[in-house]
Amino acid sequence: MTELAFTRTTADRRSPAEREAILADPGFGNYFTDHMVSIVWTKADGWQTPEVLPYGPIPMDPASSVLHYGQEIFEGMKAYRHADGALVAFRPEENARRLNESARRLSLPEIPVELFVAAVRELVEIDADWVPSGADQSLYLRPFMIADESFLGVRAAERARFLVIASPAGPYFTGGVKPVSIWLSETHSRAGRGGTGAAKCGGNYAASLLPQSEAAAHGCQQVLFTDSATDDTIDELGGMNLFLVRADGTLVTPRLNGNILNGITRKSLIQLAKDRGLAVEERDVTVREWRAGVEEGTITEAFACGTAAVITPIRELKTADFTIDFGDAAPGPITLSLREELTGIQFGTREDPHGWIDVL
Ligand code: PMP
Repeated sequence: MTELAFTRTTADRRSPAEREAILADPGFGNYFTDHMVSIVWTKADGWQTPEVLPYGPIPMDPASSVLHYGQEIFEGMKAYRHADGALVAFRPEENARRLNESARRLSLPEIPVELFVAAVRELVEIDADWVPSGADQSLYLRPFMIADESFLGVRAAERARFLVIASPAGPYFTGGVKPVSIWLSETHSRAGRGGTGAAKCGGNYAASLLPQSEAAAHGCQQVLFTDSATDDTIDELGGMNLFLVRADGTLVTPRLNGNILNGITRKSLIQLAKDRGLAVEERDVTVREWRAGVEEGTITEAFACGTAAVITPIRELKTADFTIDFGDAAPGPITLSLREELTGIQFGTREDPHGWIDVL
């Protein structure tokens, strides 16, 4: 393995005034910081010297495998600015481990966890001025890996590049926590048994775009996928995991069945719920159970969770035939208090009982 010393080529792309204007209202995914990290891997020599470079285009041969066979994986995580000025990340080693799980499935090289975390730390350090300090603001980090060997044969590439870019992010919810409507995809699957559903690879997201447009056409913000288009066993949303809350406070969420992403928010909320003494069931969950539970009053809340929006309350699930509706009852009290607790840990306004916060 290579030394963790990074070479640095620096350049500020924007003036402080331009940066401040962006940080005042960054939205999500619109703007990128001044730098990026790049680390080349070759089968012959392993990971090369990590580099910090000015943010910008990367060299790309038209025959690069990623452009033809989609050999790509990524992560999504955030850096936060605490009131005492500390810049922190939330469970960054979990992202490193998950990237390596994705790497195994996509035949890309695994990256040492400490090199992944050092890359994130390096970028946040050099672009520290880009970590916003406003309410609910953070610096969204996008580590990713592409196969960039110039070769058209279908086999695992022997050259890859790991990069980290960063984008200041505002509150996902403008004007409070707004419950969303979700659409059940009954004609398209996101993942199949033995496929890549548990990996965070670009192709999964490409496959979700058409059903996502169908959801939008039905007035819904998110799409819900089931285990296969013919079964009603719930997997997850296009970019978030799903939880149902029972009237007795039990949390129910689809088990890690090989088709869904092992969400770090999901895992953290399961822990926080257990800390409160709530029961958590990780098992198969069906749309039928959700519908009957709401009709009988035994299921009282539903929410989606992920890094970008933390917790998104669900007000209704729409399908071609019926709607399951919490209406004005959403967001429910457990949804809101779990959201409060997790964001409190992330933003440093609450105690961090599990040591999830890493000072960068
Ligand atoms: N499922 C999918 C398909 C996702 O893209 C994400 C976002 N990474 C999640 C679940 C939630 O994962 P996490 O809590 O780690 O952000």
